[in-house]
Amino acid sequence: MFLTDQFGRRISDLRISITDRCNYRCVYCRTENEGALYGDLPFTDYLRMARVLVGMGITKVRLTGGEPLLRNGIVDFVRELNQLRTADNGDAIDIALTTNGHLLADLARPLKDAGLTRVTVSMDAVDPERFARITRVSNGYDRVLAGIRSARRAGLWPLKVNCVLMRGFNEDQIIPFGMFAREEGVTVRFIEFMPLEEGRTWSPDTVVTLEEILSRMGEYRPLVEIPRGRSETARRYRFDDGVGEIGIIAPVSHPFCGHCSRIRITSDGKIRTCLFSAWDHDLNAKMRRGASDEELTEFIRGVVQQKEERHHIGEADFVPASRTMVHIGG
Ligand code: SAM
Repeated sequence: MFLTDQFGRRISDLRISITDRCNYRCVYCRTENEGALYGDLPFTDYLRMARVLVGMGITKVRLTGGEPLLRNGIVDFVRELNQLRTADNGDAIDIALTTNGHLLADLARPLKDAGLTRVTVSMDAVDPERFARITRVSNGYDRVLAGIRSARRAGLWPLKVNCVLMRGFNEDQIIPFGMFAREEGVTVRFIEFMPLEEGRTWSPDTVVTLEEILSRMGEYRPLVEIPRGRSETARRYRFDDGVGEIGIIAPVSHPFCGHCSRIRITSDGKIRTCLFSAWDHDLNAKMRRGASDEELTEFIRGVVQQKEERHHIGEADFVPASRTMVHIGG
């Protein structure tokens, strides 16, 4: 009954990009010139897509973008999503958000009250100047820190802070992030840089790998690995004194495609079955042509059968994705 692809992977995790716009221009993600490239849909359309997909076995919905907090009406949208119930046991779905945190301080409490379960804040330096250089926004660091603290107070817990490491930009932030995790009581997760940027600056040398992160952090304090579930994408570690957790998501050096449970909907209503897909599938067009829920279900089942087995990062046959990260929804 549940949504399963041709490799037997159960698809339970949906990411919806609710806008293609972003208020940051992180150097490893965007060029200075490119703005939004794709439109967005009324929330009622995303809601219908989510409802159909939850009916097919989706249990987690993560809102992303662009920057999702730029979209007016997000709190009401979360409230509507919170009415959906999973197909297997009728529980509420898990509703998560990925944000740069710039607008989070005032929105954390209303989002929590509307039914948001968790938030992940992206943050690539714990030093205000470095943060400004990476994001190309001058006053961001203090705002994001305020957003993180506000989310904590609102009970959006566990709170994760994701940091993409890129050689030459911020690999010296590894230990400061370890300290940050301990001081702020958040889980910091380092993510390997993937070839999904607008500027096409990726090369294998720019990736700061899992082994390197562990070795650098070990110079600060010993780490103890936390046993992980089969489908967990992050390897998790605690510091030896039990204070502070870090995680490493290593799609380049240790791919986890065999456990992938995700599909994505872009802001303009296309389904993507992999970050690295060379094409997408126009769910919005089906809806515009008046498809019934049953027809949408059938379309989605067919699309999921085409989910790629794995990515080919670093291989000779690698073909860049048809969209970059900011236009997909990370
Ligand atoms: N604006 C929101 C945010 O900042 O979290 C959501 C969208 S952003 C594209 C989602 C995540 O993708 C961020 O954590 C960002 O650092 C990450 N990201 C962007 N480009 C990436 C790349 N080439 N490789 C790995 N992660 C990347």
